Amino acid sequence: MTQKRILVTGGGGFIGHHLINFLKERGYWVRGVDIKEPEFAPTQADEFMLLDLRRWENCLQATQNVNEVYALAADMGGMGFISANHSQILHNNLLINLHTLEAARHNGVKRYLFTSSACVYPEYRQLETSVSPLKEEDAYPAQPQDAYGWEKLVVEQLCTHYHNEHPIETRIVRFHNIFGPLGTWDGGREKAPAALCRKIAVARLTGNPTVDIWGDGEQTRSFCYIDDCTTGLYKLMNSDYREPLNLGQDRLVTINQLADIIAEIAGISIEKNHVAGPQGVRGRNSDNTRLREVLGWEPRVSLEEGLAETYRWIESQVKMKMAEQTPVAG
Ligand code: NAD
Repeated sequence: MTQKRILVTGGGGFIGHHLINFLKERGYWVRGVDIKEPEFAPTQADEFMLLDLRRWENCLQATQNVNEVYALAADMGGMGFISANHSQILHNNLLINLHTLEAARHNGVKRYLFTSSACVYPEYRQLETSVSPLKEEDAYPAQPQDAYGWEKLVVEQLCTHYHNEHPIETRIVRFHNIFGPLGTWDGGREKAPAALCRKIAVARLTGNPTVDIWGDGEQTRSFCYIDDCTTGLYKLMNSDYREPLNLGQDRLVTINQLADIIAEIAGISIEKNHVAGPQGVRGRNSDNTRLREVLGWEPRVSLEEGLAETYRWIESQVKMKMAEQTPVAG
């Protein structure tokens, strides 16, 4: 049998980098494409192309001679970034996804997996901290909070229409807050788990216990570790399921609780300082009923285990950065 050839777009990003490693460990030939190299570790991809996928001709090049595409490239970040850059996000991500899917069809790609988000779910279902977990069908009538979620919804529809009208298999995953090592941890695009690990690492290393939390910290989310994410992606791609599918944990925690778990891992007591900042929806959780039915599997790494790995890595990054900034005596 000839070796399957796989393209991972966004292969220089957090999930894409881990997914390339996962696929290489299983013996596939893998091409990564991104506008940047992975920031924290060299790629394991057989081929890595630096291409801007907003451009049609680059998408044609990226999707040549591959059997499957995992489409992860996106202009994205945490709540701070998503709530302040609507036009840029909608413009860039639409271009990326319209061109990548059409180029994949043009080049005869057999299977295409699009990475959507829990941000597609309507704001009116996420007004309380003690929310009901979100089922896939809850996405409609649509009212995502941000342009980021609207773009994901449109491309979900695009995938379904492409499958109905062309010989291409499409898969759609809706991630719920994926976290882990080798993800963005500072600079404005980081998400809550990475931001809190960084702030708590700084508190531990400087001895100043004050940790800023956006809002009252009572907003709720569920968080899924990266190893479960790559496993779930692979299982979905190889399933026969074409409808959108949640991929996340269903353990709801407040941001205050998340901070407490990380502080315990770091072995320090913190003082939470609640400051104004974008918080996103008030509460959000994943309903994993369909995930279990379709894949016969669900995420299994506990929040504590995943955060311990993540904290260890981010603390080492913070230490390195502090060392660079400390003037050498003499
Ligand atoms: P990430 O930002 O680390 O990775 C995205 C990658 O896309 C980046 O490396 C970026 O450089 C690349 N990219 C941006 N513009 C590009 C362009 N014009 N051409 C080529 N590459 C470009 O994010 P991630 O967390 O790895 O997310 C991967 C996918 O999963 C994204 O589609 C994201 O929307 C989706 N998602 C992630 C989460 C999460 O919790 N991490 C949640 C929901 C959805």
